[in-house]
Amino acid sequence: ERIVSSEVNESEISLEQSLRPQTLKQYIGQNQVKENLEIFIKAARLRKETLDHVLLYGPPGLGKTTLAVIIANEMGVNIRTTSGPAIERPGDLAAILTALEPGDVLFIDEIHRLQRTIEEVLYPAMEDFCLDIVIGKGPSARSVRLDLPPFTLVGATTRAGSLSAPLRDRFGVLSRLEYYKEDQLKNIVIRTAEVFGTEIDDSSAAEIARRARGTPRIANRLLRRVRDFAQVRGNGTINLALAREALELLQVDRLGLDHIDHKLLKGIIEKFRGGPVGLDTIAASIGEESETIEDVYEPYLLQIGFLQRTPRGRVVTAAVYQHFGMEIPAP
Ligand code: ADP
Repeated sequence: ERIVSSEVNESEISLEQSLRPQTLKQYIGQNQVKENLEIFIKAARLRKETLDHVLLYGPPGLGKTTLAVIIANEMGVNIRTTSGPAIERPGDLAAILTALEPGDVLFIDEIHRLQRTIEEVLYPAMEDFCLDIVIGKGPSARSVRLDLPPFTLVGATTRAGSLSAPLRDRFGVLSRLEYYKEDQLKNIVIRTAEVFGTEIDDSSAAEIARRARGTPRIANRLLRRVRDFAQVRGNGTINLALAREALELLQVDRLGLDHIDHKLLKGIIEKFRGGPVGLDTIAASIGEESETIEDVYEPYLLQIGFLQRTPRGRVVTAAVYQHFGMEIPAP
């Protein structure tokens, strides 16, 4: 399990829930998204209507689930949570939809993984708050419409491009979450430390933030490990020296890269002269799946400008040579 993985691991699910901000005000960063939502929520409340369906997209760990919970809180309604892969049959979705209370938020994580036949149940549900059910078989089969309570669908996806157009078009609000800036992550670290009752100074929080790959989930995870370290090696208070030492021990470098990133980048430099090299070739050379590289390893490396995608394959940039203290090869 990578310490800098942006995916949640089983053991931290309940802890993450306890760290979730509950209101828009407590939610740090993503100002554009927050401002928009604030207006839509206020307007819906004034009109005593349900909020339009909301699609949240962006890399894992940036706060999509958290925002869904906040939307429900701010609307003063309940939230029902499920995910694309968890809904196996159209009937599963029908059961969830008919159990909703008026105004509820239905949160579907990984919504791009819904099967087509199940998606089709969602269309009339989202558009007209109704279900079309076919009763009987063969020539005597007929379709019956069932009314549903009005609800707000909040969908989350890491791959907006994989969503079918008819589904995407049925969302009134589309919000893209961005990687967080260092000072925003620093504030998240400080807030989490407060929840933990751990003392931390500004520079230590900044040091953790710098290595958190723009991702609150990773910032909180690093903080937990640094806190353990401070408890065992010090008196529990986190200072810069302890934070740095702990992060060195965790082998997370000053940009948040770990040994897997190093292996990937150095592999391209050493075996392919820095590229361009095709994704499949890279994958084979370091013994990883292409999809894992594309979905998990690459996004942050692209974001910080360490990798570039070109028509002929991946290329490492000059910044990588600098980061490793290597000489930049002549073109
Ligand atoms: P996603 O659903 O996008 O994978 P989550 O909503 O589960 O991400 O967030 C992961 C963790 O990061 C949660 O524990 C949450 O408390 C924290 N977090 C995310 N965004 C914020 C934020 N803007 N402010 C404070 N904490 C955040």
